[in-house]
Amino acid sequence: MEKTKVVILGAGYAGLMALRQLQKRGDASFLEITLVDRNPYHYEATDLHEVAAGALDADRITYPIDHVVDDKMTYFVEDTVTKIDKQARRVELANHDALSYDYLIVGLGFESEDFGIPGVQENALAMDSVESAQRIYQHIEDEMHAYREDNDPRHLHIVVAGAGFTGVELLGALSEQRDKYAEIAGAAPNQIQIMAVDGAQRPLSVFSEKLVNYGIDVLRGRGAVIESGKGIDSVEPGVLKYSDRQTGVPGEVVAGTIIWTTGVRGSHVMADSGYTGKRNRNSVNRYLQDPEDSHVYLVGDVAAAIDPESEQLLPTTAQLALVMGEIAAKNVIADITDYELTEFSYKSLGTVCSIGNTSAIGVVGTDHEVKGYPASMLKKVIMNKSLMETGGMKEVLSKGRFDLYH
Ligand code: FAD
Repeated sequence: MEKTKVVILGAGYAGLMALRQLQKRGDASFLEITLVDRNPYHYEATDLHEVAAGALDADRITYPIDHVVDDKMTYFVEDTVTKIDKQARRVELANHDALSYDYLIVGLGFESEDFGIPGVQENALAMDSVESAQRIYQHIEDEMHAYREDNDPRHLHIVVAGAGFTGVELLGALSEQRDKYAEIAGAAPNQIQIMAVDGAQRPLSVFSEKLVNYGIDVLRGRGAVIESGKGIDSVEPGVLKYSDRQTGVPGEVVAGTIIWTTGVRGSHVMADSGYTGKRNRNSVNRYLQDPEDSHVYLVGDVAAAIDPESEQLLPTTAQLALVMGEIAAKNVIADITDYELTEFSYKSLGTVCSIGNTSAIGVVGTDHEVKGYPASMLKKVIMNKSLMETGGMKEVLSKGRFDLYH
C-alpha cells in the first residue's frame, strides 16, 4: 500500500503538537511524515523576551527537533519554506527539492508587525525569533559598553514600542536586569531608563484595571514606566517619535535601544503563496482546514480561528496553537482512516502575563484573578505544561521551570 504523505511546516507549538499526535495515532505502515523548520531546534516563543533581556541563555528555551522525531515514520528537513503551491500540492524550499504532499499542516507562526510605520525596519529591533532576541541582548550589552567610552546617557535608555502582552513581559524582564546593565555600563541603576510607549490609553485591557495597576506598580518599583496614549509615528536612528492620542501634541524618546513589540502577523509565506487573510492570518473551516482545500490544515498564528461559541476571532497564543495542532493531526488520521472529523472547539485555561521572573498578573479560567509571586509560579506551571506537550517529559526535566531563578 502506498503511504500517505503528510508534510508539517514549522516546528513551533502547533507543528510539534501535530507531529507528536500523528506519531502517536498513526503508524509507519501507512504514514510518511516530513517536518520542515528553518532551525534544527524548537524554541519556546513565549520566553523570547527573557533571552532578549539577557535573563536566560538561548539554550534554556530551545531543544533539538531530533528529540521528538520518530525516525521510523518521520523525516526532518532543516530548511526555509519559501512558498506553498496549492495547485500542485507542493511546498517549495530554499535549499532542497520541493516536497509533494497528500496532506499539509501549516504552522509557520508569527513575525513582527510594523503596521507600515516609517523607520521601524531600519531603526528598531524586532523580537520574533531566537536570533532576533539574541541580537537585542547583544545590542543592549554593546550600548552599555559604549557608555563606558563616552558617557552619553542615551546608551543607557531602552525603549519598548508597544505595551501589549509581549511588550509588558519584555519590560518586566528588562527591569529585573537593570542592575546587571548598570554594572556593565559602570553606571548607577537609576541611570538606566526603561520605558514602554503605547497608543492605547490603558495597557493590557484584557485584564481588570486593578490588576493592570498592580503590574504597573511592580514595574515602577523597578524603575520601568509605561507611557500610554502615545501613537507611534516613526522611528529614526535612536529616536522614537509619537503623538499624544488625545491632544495630538508630538513627543519623542531618545534611546540607544529601541525594541519593536507592537504586534504580530502570520508568516509572510502565506501571502507569498496566495493566501489573502488580514495580517497573514487565514480563515479555516470548523475542522481547521483551508476552506479551499480539505487536505490543507492551517494552525497556530497563521490561522484566523473563530471561537465557535462566541463567534469572535481568537487571539493568537501558544495555548491555542497547541489545541489547533492536536485537532489538525487527529483530523488527518481520521480522514485517512475514514473516521469522523473533530470540530474545532477551544476553552482558554486563562492568561498570565509575567512581570519578570518573580511577579505576574493573570486570570485563571474566565474570572479568577491572580497576581504577584503566586501568579509567576502559575506561569511556570503553564510553561512546563506546553513543554510537556511539545517535547515530553525529557524536555521538561532538562528545560522546565521549577524555581524562582528558572
Ligand atoms: P511559532 O511558535 O511561531 O513557530 C513557528 C515555527 O515555524 C518556528 O519553529 C519557526 O522556526 C518556523 N518557521 C517560520 N517560518 C519558517 C519558514 N519560512 N521556513 C521554515 N520554518 C519556518 N502565548 C501564550 O499562550 N502565552 C504566553 O504567555 C505568551 N507569551 C508570549 C511572549 C512573547 C515574548 C511572544 C513573542 C509571544 C507570546 N505568546 C504567548 C504567543 C505565542 O508565542 C504564539 O502565539 C505561538 O508561538 C504561536 O505558535 P505557532 O506554533 O503558531 O508558531
